[in-house]
Amino acid sequence: MIPYSTQLIEEDDIAAVTEVLKSSHLTQGAKVEEFEEAIAGYVGARYCIVFNSATSALHAAYDACGIGHGDEIITTPISFVATSNMAIALGAKPIFCDIKNDGNIDENFIEALITPRTKAIVPVDFAGKPVAIKVLNSIAKKHGLKVIEDASHALGSSINGEKIGSFADMTVFSFHAIKPITTGEGGAVVTDNEEFARALRLFRSHGIIKKQLWNSDMVSLGYNFRMTEFAAALGLSQLKKLNRFIDIRESIGHYYDERFQGHNLFSTIPIDSSEQSARHLYPLLLSPALHCVKEDIFSELQTRGLGVQVHYKPIYQNSFYKELYGEMRLSNTEYFYRSELSIPCHQKMTMENAAHVADTLLEVIEKYAYRGCSF
Ligand SMILES: *Cc1c(COP(=O)(O)O)cnc(C)c1O
Repeated sequence: MIPYSTQLIEEDDIAAVTEVLKSSHLTQGAKVEEFEEAIAGYVGARYCIVFNSATSALHAAYDACGIGHGDEIITTPISFVATSNMAIALGAKPIFCDIKNDGNIDENFIEALITPRTKAIVPVDFAGKPVAIKVLNSIAKKHGLKVIEDASHALGSSINGEKIGSFADMTVFSFHAIKPITTGEGGAVVTDNEEFARALRLFRSHGIIKKQLWNSDMVSLGYNFRMTEFAAALGLSQLKKLNRFIDIRESIGHYYDERFQGHNLFSTIPIDSSEQSARHLYPLLLSPALHCVKEDIFSELQTRGLGVQVHYKPIYQNSFYKELYGEMRLSNTEYFYRSELSIPCHQKMTMENAAHVADTLLEVIEKYAYRGCSF
């Protein structure tokens, strides 16, 4: 099976982890700080605070800008549930905004959703393709909101050479196993704001500040959302490879773009020439003529060894959300969900693998096309 995404762990990654395992500090040592400095330097942000997951990082980021009971965030339904879950965890309500045909939040619909309770806009760089962050920032500024960018797919993505992580008030990255680089589980928030950085560190570690000698003081409610030293060592080692990983995913992406160009049964998502995508996912959009056979196409691709996936079931369609907020439907989101299929694209693949994926996909698509769907 060629999965849609996977990690690449090499000997030097293993050596970096082993070295820490043999050292005096498994947690709360120097590696975490070194990793934080490296991430901040890479994306061009002043502060980086790492966490044991992007989920905890989101939780901390929402808390740091004061999101709490009765507040609202405006976010996208085409994301992993953690994006909106962590706002709910603080008593806030996610307001879902419809998306564009690239899977990113539609900035044109945001202002209509702003209420006196809105605290933040939370976009997701879907598949690694940058959101319209400058427009989002100016809407936020006009209305006194914060922008918290969930860039879990987008470490290494950039706009005119400037990395994602240098634009929003806070930007969140994930180091889950199959994200652009990995620490096993892990996440980070980057920010230029010193107050946020301080709040994020407190939230990560019990709200405790050190005073003198044995004396410490717990000044706010916090958790244990810390990253281990060996995870940070893996992250440091992986970060050195990020540009190589992106180059490989980019070559595969370009190859697919060319193979699939002009196909009448599905389309791909173009990346603007001024932008770079980390290519965490390679999404296809099936045309309506294939929507009714999508399950068959998915199953056959799986049977034939392609670990395809669909990103994402709209968050509001989950039972938990339906029970909380009732049924809702956003038309572009629904259409995107019916169309989307992510095919394998990762740094462990060769160009031969990519050719095999493209050949198999084209064969299977054409096999099911004859049935057609009425729409
Ligand atoms: C993976 C992911 C998360 C959660 O990341 P974890 O590190 O697994 O907690 C959040 N948002 C998006 C968009 C993701 O893809």
